[in-house]
Amino acid sequence: MKIGAMLGDLLRSLFRRPVTERYPFVKRAPPERLRGALRYDPANCSGCMLCMKDCPANALELITIDRKAKKFVMRYHADRCTFCAQCVASCRFKCLNMSNEQYELAALTKAPFTVHYGNESDIQALLDAVAPTNSAPTAKA
Ligand code: SF4
Ligand code: SF4
Repeated sequence: MKIGAMLGDLLRSLFRRPVTERYPFVKRAPPERLRGALRYDPANCSGCMLCMKDCPANALELITIDRKAKKFVMRYHADRCTFCAQCVASCRFKCLNMSNEQYELAALTKAPFTVHYGNESDIQALLDAVAPTNSAPTAKA
């Protein structure tokens, strides 16, 4: 490229608005179908474990608290998740969905990537039960 043409480009670009996004200072509304963090609603969960079996990344653990009472806790390993949404498709009871709001998942430690979903008291009981052998901090949904 000749120096004259280059200077012309340079001068023009000085007076144009940048085409780059100013993220993270300015954020666009995420697309409706963006696949962010997985969410679990235990209300209709049957405990069939299809989501777990079909997950190619071994990112889900369904822990049965009381099968008769249909009490479950879902442990989600976001750091293993490939965001493929297979688990969402596999669940016949629509207990799973992928958030289009929670997509900024970077963290400096590993702890926030293990998320527990379910009834608050069930999660606490589960964490208390494993506390002596596993003292690593975990995030709750
Ligand atoms: S989105 Fe894919 S990788 Fe992530 S938990 Fe579901 S099935 Fe597993
Ligand atoms: S596939 Fe759905 S109903 Fe079955 S265990 Fe997973 S979340 Fe529960």
